[in-house]
Amino acid sequence: MNPRTATAPTLTEVLQQATLRLQTALPELDARREAEALVLSCLQLPRSALFVHDEALSEAACARLEQWLQRRSKGEPLAYLRGEREFWSLPLQVDARVLVPRPETELLVERALRAGQALSDTDGRGLRVLDLGTGSGAIALAIVRERPDWIVTATDRSGDALQVAIGNAARLGLDTIEFIEGEWFAPLGDRQFDLILSNPPYVAADDPLLQGDSLRHEPRGALTPGADALGALRSIVTAAPTHLAARGVVLLEHGATQGQDVRALLETQGFCAVRTHRDLAGHERVSEARGS
Ligand code: SAM
Ligand code: GLN
Repeated sequence: MNPRTATAPTLTEVLQQATLRLQTALPELDARREAEALVLSCLQLPRSALFVHDEALSEAACARLEQWLQRRSKGEPLAYLRGEREFWSLPLQVDARVLVPRPETELLVERALRAGQALSDTDGRGLRVLDLGTGSGAIALAIVRERPDWIVTATDRSGDALQVAIGNAARLGLDTIEFIEGEWFAPLGDRQFDLILSNPPYVAADDPLLQGDSLRHEPRGALTPGADALGALRSIVTAAPTHLAARGVVLLEHGATQGQDVRALLETQGFCAVRTHRDLAGHERVSEARGS
């Protein structure tokens, strides 16, 4: 028997080791779950391998795993290691140029589809939809996947992020989206939209969360608008009335404690039917309003 093979660890063993290392490095996470996800992704194994497969791993597999574990232990999101994250059942390519799309943002997509359906029922034409700060393209791509008849524009001030979004659109064959670089509404002239959607940065620059393991690998400009956590939401809400078509709807994601402030911003700008939807964790997450 090859002496190296005799000592090579099995899947069960590497999983135990990975769990222990992640427990120490990232104590706030469910280490076992993280370790399973990491090991399976890294070795490109199906979940069933956890129950049936316990052969010794090759040297190359162990080396690759070690690299992934070191990066994950420093907090780098698994999505960056895999180069992919699923959003709205779409496999999106992601890297350090874009925020990793979050499951709670699917609530915004769900509400946008609902609001848009109600609008197109009475109107009968393709809706004009705007996704401000598109990042990986997550929101815009999910909307076009569901409603290829809607006309979607997506903007971001980060040219790097737009490259990722454009790549995702091409790869998924959802390339009818118009991508534009620039600050919020600035590159859009006086164009109007029936639905204005955004998941803008909403974490204050001095929030210790930004330095924590889970966020510090993502682009700062995607997470924080600066000292004022509501800065980006305020800019968007202030300019939105000019760009919203008659009976149009605005949907904005925000932090769990920002619902009241965002509703107040919307009301001050004259929006009606202002309300907030809760995410699966029960947190106020997406506020919705109709133009006056
Ligand atoms: N929409 C994506 C999602 O939900 O996963 C990404 C959202 S990320 C929280 C915010 C995005 O807004 C980033 O891609 C960032 O580059 C962009 N952004 C930040 N400030 C901006 C600004 N002033 N104008 C335009 N885009 C901006
Ligand atoms: N939801 C992100 C978080 O994990 C923040 C994203 C954002 O600022 N839009 O805190």
